[in-house]
Amino acid sequence: MLSFLGRGSAFADEHNSAYFVADKDLVLLDCPMSTFEKLKRRDLSSFDHVYVLVTHTHGDHIGGIGLLVDWLYFASDTKITVVAPSDRVRDDLKFYLKNLEGCSDTWFELVTAEELDKDWLFCPVPTSHTEELSGKCFGYCLTVDGNRTVYTGDSNTLAPFEEYLTEGAYLYTEMSSNKTPVHMYCCDMADKIKELTSRGVHVFLMHMDDEDKIAEAMKDTGAEFAPVEQGGESMEDCGKILNGIYDITDSLYTDMCMNDRKDHNLLFSYLTELGKTIVDADRASFWKWDKRKGQIWTMSATGVDKIVIPDSTGLVGKALRSKKTVITNDPYSDPDFNKNVDLQTGYTTKSVLVLPVADINGSFIGALQLINKNDDRGFDEKVDPKKLSLAALVCGIALESETFLEESHHDKLTGLKNRMGFYFDFGGKYKDYLIPDSGKTMSVFICDIDKFKRVNDTYGHNAGDDVLAFTANLIESFCADDQNVYRWGGEEFVFVMPDTDLAGAAAKAEEIRVKLMGSSIEADGNVINCTMSFGCTFFDPSKSIEENISNADEKLYTAKETGRNRVCT
Ligand code: GH3
Ligand code: MG
Ligand code: MG
Repeated sequence: MLSFLGRGSAFADEHNSAYFVADKDLVLLDCPMSTFEKLKRRDLSSFDHVYVLVTHTHGDHIGGIGLLVDWLYFASDTKITVVAPSDRVRDDLKFYLKNLEGCSDTWFELVTAEELDKDWLFCPVPTSHTEELSGKCFGYCLTVDGNRTVYTGDSNTLAPFEEYLTEGAYLYTEMSSNKTPVHMYCCDMADKIKELTSRGVHVFLMHMDDEDKIAEAMKDTGAEFAPVEQGGESMEDCGKILNGIYDITDSLYTDMCMNDRKDHNLLFSYLTELGKTIVDADRASFWKWDKRKGQIWTMSATGVDKIVIPDSTGLVGKALRSKKTVITNDPYSDPDFNKNVDLQTGYTTKSVLVLPVADINGSFIGALQLINKNDDRGFDEKVDPKKLSLAALVCGIALESETFLEESHHDKLTGLKNRMGFYFDFGGKYKDYLIPDSGKTMSVFICDIDKFKRVNDTYGHNAGDDVLAFTANLIESFCADDQNVYRWGGEEFVFVMPDTDLAGAAAKAEEIRVKLMGSSIEADGNVINCTMSFGCTFFDPSKSIEENISNADEKLYTAKETGRNRVCT
């Protein structure tokens, strides 16, 4: 297949120029300015040599050759050979490149097709176009990837190419929506093209000055549009993708920086959406890896609900275990691919890309997964991971800070939220309860295990730890959805009850007190009984959080002073 750097002509947006790669040779068919501009943005260092096969000398076909010669000479080690189809065209090119473009003949090699010894070049084919270029217009017969390939260039007839159009040949022919003496007019060509495809010639159309009209004329012929440049989008597609990216980053910025309610899940869903837009995939998901539990789960996903799976399974698991990007454009033949989601939802996965993401120490902590690239070629192993790299990096940093934040708000021993978590909640979900006259009320109590030091002294610290964990678990089991318990200090806990009066808080405390008193705690091989004392207060929003806790603490002190194992209000 040839790849097109542009199709069309002076009449269309882009110009006629295609390329193919043969070993370390980059072979261009013509080089208008638009082609030079595209090449300039690419890294050509992997090519030893660039060959430009010239079809005819109209500027919209050769206008970029002079600059390409200059640029390769001054900015790279890559050599360039300009190939003329005949002696006359060679002489014209020599005049043009030396006298008009001012290129020294040491900067490039100029040869005729006959002089060039390359197995991909079969022969130039003389054809006709404008009167003025009579005898100086050619197409080429080539061998590309082992296939006979006919490239007409600009031509008003297919007749000279007929003898090369054998079964299985590839024909790249121009097609125009305008009836002129210099191009092939689409409305006159349908029968001819149909005849070619019916005898096994693969026909690709180029030039294409009015795609809709040409598509209509060619609709039953079996011809296809010549593919525009593989691995890259047209400029128009690039613009669309960029705008999509800007829309997402703008919403991301607004929601994360300008809104009070910060929802971390929203951040991940934006980043996942960003990845999906950048590579133009149908679905995307972002996965967190919990190495301790041996699980991976979706932090956010488009098209499916939350999924939790063992880290030894699936393509995400494979990417994390192997610490490598995984790409497959044929997932059903990959033994690591998990077909279950497709089976359950009726979706068909055709291509998958998984990019593992690391924390700042380089340990992998999650992965970005993209599914079904919206074209038939699937994911490209070079281009797509490169495009996704920034989104993946930001996902990694976001996941790391999210994990870090979660951990810093929790206590390892009991699993309860700690004092940082307490303040975080009062800056977030309980914020409104701090506003005087907001009409929102809450109660809190603080509780403390009685004579806990004795537990440590008698049974040891490990037993003490077990008692703490048991007690924390017991208190937490009394938490309703909107309530929360925090490990306030060593063996002290704070219980927060929104929309609850003092009597309600005291009743809850009493329930917990009774439950704990009746519990036998298995602790490091011992059976221990414990009690707790409680101090309750009705939260006063005109006072600070600390003053309110201090109020509850005074009541707790009273409970301790008056014999422990009791609730004071
Ligand atoms: P009171 O009834 O007056 O509250 O008596 P107490 O012994 O419970 O109070 P005190 O403040 O004297 O002792 C609290 C003890 O809790 C001291 C400390 O070693 C222990 N402690 C605090 N944190 C932990 C922990 O994480 N694990 C263990 N095992 N012990 C802890
Ligand atoms: Mg105590
Ligand atoms: Mg204490």
